[in-house]
Amino acid sequence: MNASFKKVFSVLLCFSILATLMAPAVSAAPAADVTDISVEGTQGNDGWYTSDVTLTPVAPGSLISSNGSDWQQSIVVKGDRTSPFTYYLKDADGQESGAEKITLKIDKTAPRIRSGSAFKDGGIYCKTVSGGIVEEYFDKILVDGEPIRYTQDDYDEIKYYFTINTAGSHTVEVYDKAGNVLTANITVNEDHVYGDLVQTKAPSCTVRGNWEKQCIYCIHKVIISSTDAEMDQLHDWNEPTFEWAEDGSSATASFTCNNSELHAKTLDAEITSEVVTPATCVEPGETKYTATVELQGQTYTDEKIIKDIPISAEHAWEEPQFVWANDGSLAYAEFVCGNSSEHNKSVVAEVTSEVVKAATCTEPGETKYTATVEMQGQTYTDVKIIKDIPAIAHSLTKVDATQASETKEGNIEYYICGDCKKAFLDAEGKTEISLEDTVLPKVEVKVVKGDANADGKVGIVDAKLVLKYVAQMQTLSDKEYKAADMNNDGNVTVVDAKLILKLIAGINNA
Ligand SMILES: [Zn+2]
Ligand SMILES: [Zn+2]
Ligand SMILES: [Zn+2]
Ligand SMILES: [Zn+2]
Repeated sequence: MNASFKKVFSVLLCFSILATLMAPAVSAAPAADVTDISVEGTQGNDGWYTSDVTLTPVAPGSLISSNGSDWQQSIVVKGDRTSPFTYYLKDADGQESGAEKITLKIDKTAPRIRSGSAFKDGGIYCKTVSGGIVEEYFDKILVDGEPIRYTQDDYDEIKYYFTINTAGSHTVEVYDKAGNVLTANITVNEDHVYGDLVQTKAPSCTVRGNWEKQCIYCIHKVIISSTDAEMDQLHDWNEPTFEWAEDGSSATASFTCNNSELHAKTLDAEITSEVVTPATCVEPGETKYTATVELQGQTYTDEKIIKDIPISAEHAWEEPQFVWANDGSLAYAEFVCGNSSEHNKSVVAEVTSEVVKAATCTEPGETKYTATVEMQGQTYTDVKIIKDIPAIAHSLTKVDATQASETKEGNIEYYICGDCKKAFLDAEGKTEISLEDTVLPKVEVKVVKGDANADGKVGIVDAKLVLKYVAQMQTLSDKEYKAADMNNDGNVTVVDAKLILKLIAGINNA
């Protein structure tokens, strides 16, 4: 209880004592038998009531009044109050008491949170929370069962202020003297809990942008502005102007910003090159140079084509024409360039040879001559086949002449080649002759009938010879046999001997 409250209370107390003292002077003396009343109500702490209080005379038939004229069975005294209550009693005989006083402390009102305070049951706070409590008969504040400090302010109503700085969930209980309690469960977070960052001002290269993040539990918010470096990434660059070195080896790209003339940038480009048209022996070649720069994640390029490849010493040689010596011992190749007939060249070829067909005694052999030239790393060849290996001599063997007989053909003298089987009259193989022409026909056989011994005459001797043959004492040649076969029956018999004898006789007779 603070000092000023104590003072008010003591003033009221003095007044009531004074009133009690003065009472007998203004009303009749109190009756001895009506001093007792019953007091009914909900009892709080320390003699306080937390409900309205009903005063009822104890003596049967007695009545009670708050002003001495309006008599009732009982009186309800309404709270809140702490001042003494004055009442009058009248007993069953109509005997009235004087003014009586009873001290009644009634507090029906629990402490309440000051209107407009952020502190409330179920509240979630960041780092700290302050509460304001309104309570006329304040007693104490407990946080998690422990009393805490508070400050008091009685300016318009009696208020108590407190602050909780400890993170965690807490139960706050505020008690008044009567024992009424205000309970609030709250949570204090260690720090703010922010929601998403929201853009509130779009940035550009000339305007600093803003983003905000708001605590989801309190009004606290954080504002973030774009930095110079970030703004430097937001230019609205125009297509750059490229400036090239004469030889294409370097280039710069100059940018201007659409948003401000003050924003300009010149960058050295990266250069790559490629041959787009190779040089020939009549025309220089072309190189394409590409300049590339990157700015704010975008790539810009420019191209420059320069005729900077010197005329080539290499020609577009066509297939050469080969010119040969008749005997194949020498050749050269005549080249003409496809780009210009003024570009031409004769190159002596390297000639190699090989026998592709050996000579025989009838045919000359063949040699293949190969001419090879190299030109600009390429090899060209030409081939010529010449019949330049003389035929070899026949290998002749002499065949002696043989006489033809009645039974056997003969032949003339000639020479025969063991390789080609051809026949020649001379030892040099110059005059060829067919093999048939070397043959001499058999000699014709002349048979004289009866001339069995072929001595040109038919006589007794022949008949005797036949008889000897028949007696198997003699053999006969073919010719003799035909001459002996007089009757031409294919057999030589005694009949033939008789016919020979007849012939001799006939001859002799003539
Ligand atoms: Zn917060
Ligand atoms: Zn700009
Ligand atoms: Zn050429
Ligand atoms: Zn031959």
